[in-house]
This record gives sequence, structure tokens and C-alpha cells, in this order.
Amino acid sequence: MTLRAGPEYHNEERQSRKGERHMLSQKMQAAFNEQIRNEIASGYLYLAMSAYLESQNFGGAAHWMREQYKEELDHAAKLFKHVTDRSGRVVLEAIEKPPVEFGSLKEVFQAVLAHEQKVTGLINKLYETALAEKDYPAQIELQWFIKEQVEEEKTVEDILAQIEACDGKPHLLLMIDHHLGKRGQ
Ligand code: MG
Repeated sequence: MTLRAGPEYHNEERQSRKGERHMLSQKMQAAFNEQIRNEIASGYLYLAMSAYLESQNFGGAAHWMREQYKEELDHAAKLFKHVTDRSGRVVLEAIEKPPVEFGSLKEVFQAVLAHEQKVTGLINKLYETALAEKDYPAQIELQWFIKEQVEEEKTVEDILAQIEACDGKPHLLLMIDHHLGKRGQ
């Protein structure tokens, strides 16, 4: 029995059975795998922020970050399903260690916004690849993510505006923290 080599073999084997309609190109498969990594890495970053916020006694914001972490894992799972539904092969890539310290509450959410803006760019790039590859199912799948990024950025911008309106006053920041603690309830 011959050993089956990695994802390329897997694709060739399935291609003959499934036909081209459902198949992911090697390029799309690699791009989706990269985005699965990015989503899990985002989750890992938010979990690190949650740990930091707990250490700073922002229990509500720490809870908000854990909800955000779970959402990112859901995004990764959605992409995972898309790849496997189309007989592609998910290959998990390495994730870097996230930072440990994040500064003030305002700086934490500034970092979240900057990160989400970066993710928007990555999703857009993935969509452009799907356009170039004429991968229509991927385009439809990714439209959900494009919409989701609009939401993500808006939500964080709103939180940042509220934090800025507090002007560093501790009792007002604690009210925001309390509010953030209600996410998902
Ligand atoms: Mg995401």
C-alpha cells in the first residue's frame, strides 16, 4: 500500500469523483487554510486580552473579549466546514504567541480595532482570490465574512467612542466595563 502524500493527493483523488463544480483549487484551499489560521489567531489574541483585562480588574471587558474569542473560533469553524464540504483538506498552520500586556482600556480597544481592520483587509484579499479563481461558492461564503467585518469594526468603534467620552474617569470606565460584561446575555 502506498502512503498518501498530503493535501494535493487528497484533492486529485476527490476531483475525479466530485467534478469541478465543488472542488477547491489548490490556491483557494491554501488561502482558506491561511484564513482559518488567521481566525484562530484572532481568537488567541482576544483570549490574551481577556487574561490581561482580568489582571487589570476589568472583569466585564474580559468577559466581552472571551465572547469575541468564541466568535473567532466560530469563524474558523465556518471556513473549516466550507473547505471540507467541498472535499478540500484543512491544514492547520502555526499561531504566534500573542502579546501579554496591552495598556489602558482605551489602548486595548484601539488594538482590537486595528486588528479587525487588518482582518478586513485579509478577507478582502481572500475574496479577490476567489474572484480571480472564478470560485463562485467561495465568493458567496466570503460575502458573509465581508458583512461580518463591517459589524465587527462598527461595534469596536462604538465601544472606543464610549471609552473616549469617559475621558479617563475611573467611575465612568467602570460603568462601561459593567456594560461590556453583559455581552451575550
Ligand atoms: Mg473573525
